[in-house]
Amino acid sequence: MGTMDNASLPIRTLINGSFQPKVAALDMLRIDVLHPVVSGNKWFKLKYNLEEALQNKCTSILTFGGGYSNHLVAAAFAAQQANLASIGIIRGIYATATPTLLECEAYGMKLVYVPISEYKNKQDIHWLSTKVDSLEHTYIVPEGGANSLGRKGAALIGQYIAPEYSHIAVSVGSGTTLAGIHSVVQPHQQLLGFVPMKGGKGLINEINPWLSSPSPANIHLIDDYHFGGFGKYNQPLIEYMNQFYVEHNVPLDIIYTSKMMWGMEQLLQQGYFPNHSRILCIHTGGLQGNRSIAGLLPELVDIQ
Ligand SMILES: *Cc1c(COP(=O)(O)O)cnc(C)c1O
Repeated sequence: MGTMDNASLPIRTLINGSFQPKVAALDMLRIDVLHPVVSGNKWFKLKYNLEEALQNKCTSILTFGGGYSNHLVAAAFAAQQANLASIGIIRGIYATATPTLLECEAYGMKLVYVPISEYKNKQDIHWLSTKVDSLEHTYIVPEGGANSLGRKGAALIGQYIAPEYSHIAVSVGSGTTLAGIHSVVQPHQQLLGFVPMKGGKGLINEINPWLSSPSPANIHLIDDYHFGGFGKYNQPLIEYMNQFYVEHNVPLDIIYTSKMMWGMEQLLQQGYFPNHSRILCIHTGGLQGNRSIAGLLPELVDIQ
């Protein structure tokens, strides 16, 4: 994992002032290009978890995810790099493994499929112990790397965020990345968390305990651009992803970043941002998940 510690990451200008007179900058921080497999925010969330596993003399990690989970692939690969065995508890029974799950197996992850009805028990250590041979010397990483070490890792993203940015946009799943970044940005920097699921604003209740003070004025959860719910999409969103790639040469993912950028464009059009705002959109990665819609993204040839 060490080689990525001081990676310099590109920041790309998406528009300049002449397109959007009110906004002084609309840039994208490409943490998706950090590594081809342990892409985007997942590396940051895993970093200290894996270090902790090694320090605790664990020989394997166990973690959780669905059939297209970005976290699972990243965890499988990173564990292999760290000479740790890995076990993935998979949400749902798949008749045929998805490309994501096959890739996890290729990195040595042992997959344990559990029915969706049982998956909700995943924090119950007794239930878990019935699913695997042994939990001895096994370090458990919560789904999505959503724990304090995950947030500590996500806070490292702050080193790429200049204080000149007035607004920072990031996609939200568990809110781990958002909370980590919030711990290091300045109070004048507004953090826009785009939640790609229905009722996403309610996530603030889960995020609050992770913050230095609850519901800070500079966190804004936006859940208007969920496209029907987590993992749901429609033809206009697909077209938007293709068009975004043609225009900016940046591939977006179907679950998180496409909905964020779509929402961002809506907010720009609605005049949400004050004059002279400088906006940084964080590309959190997740491109491997686009294999769930392979064939629908003719422009994004390199990810199929
Ligand atoms: C996992 C993921 C997120 C969500 O991160 P959280 O820390 O769980 O909020 C956002 N974007 C992408 C591309 C992801 O893969």
